[in-house]
Amino acid sequence: MLAGGVGAARLLAGLVQVLPPSEVTAVVNTGDDLIMHGLYIAPDLDTVTYTLAGANNPETGWGLVGETWQAMGSLDRYGGDTWFNLGDVDLGTHLYRTGRLASGAGLAAVTAEVAAGWGLESTLLPMTEDRVVTKVTLADDGGLGNEVDFQEYFVRLRHDVPVSSVRFDGAEASLPGPGVLEAIAGADLVVVAPSNPIVSIGPLLAVPGIADAIRARRDDTVAVSPIIAGAALKGPADRLMRELGHEVSVGGVARMYRDITSCLIIDSVDTDLAGAVEAEGMACVITDTVMSSPEVATDLARTVLKQTRE
Ligand code: GDP
Ligand code: CA
Repeated sequence: MLAGGVGAARLLAGLVQVLPPSEVTAVVNTGDDLIMHGLYIAPDLDTVTYTLAGANNPETGWGLVGETWQAMGSLDRYGGDTWFNLGDVDLGTHLYRTGRLASGAGLAAVTAEVAAGWGLESTLLPMTEDRVVTKVTLADDGGLGNEVDFQEYFVRLRHDVPVSSVRFDGAEASLPGPGVLEAIAGADLVVVAPSNPIVSIGPLLAVPGIADAIRARRDDTVAVSPIIAGAALKGPADRLMRELGHEVSVGGVARMYRDITSCLIIDSVDTDLAGAVEAEGMACVITDTVMSSPEVATDLARTVLKQTRE
């Protein structure tokens, strides 16, 4: 699975209910990664890890359940930056990852160690071990300078400002992470998660070699639409698509993905738009895709797996 954060994590949690977890591999976006207080933080990798471990916070959609915030209080005492919340237990992950990276370990190895620490049997692969940073250009200057890092747009500005462009700094010179191309080439089925097409799947496709590897598997690639009834369930996917000139509908998603996938799974509420998906040269499968409970996620995972060719 090509994965961003929450939507991908929920579908992965469904998949490991219907498949042996060791048969599931996620290639995860690292364009959202940031360095804060000198710590290397990988929000999408952590969301996927914590969710598969059953330890995610279902209310916030990020971080750990039952988290405490003592360290943030301490930071605040010194006038440190507190706009990006880091829970006490979560901080241990960032300390561990940063320490290992500083001692020369690669992000893929550290990701595997963190996953093992949470008892995961699935494989989590960062899309790259190189630094690729999603940069967002604001249409009106948000007071932070015209171009900001993704987390400044997403968290600090609450994605409540118009955007004129998005780019993935460092992508051209980046290499796919260890195991990424092999995982795509060797998969029975490649799944594009219901993640933000622009800022979660976009960075993955910008790493040279990944888009070509998926295109080569187009007949075995299925996407789940993150757009339902013309809107994102959460986050700025709909707004970003509109601002960057894409139609905010399952037809618009189909147009973005038609070169890499042969099938789009859309929600039942969009049944009347199946023709618009098929008009893009893709098969269209209709089912309930709002993973509001583990049962829906498991059913959706079954529907996804049914698209595997014999
Ligand atoms: P992140 O969690 O902020 O990294 O964001 P993602 O890349 O996971 O993307 C969020 C997108 O996933 C939004 O466009 C949501 O509409 C979509 N999404 C989240 N949960 C679900 C779900 O249960 N079903 C579907 N179809 N889409 C979802
Ligand atoms: Ca993300």
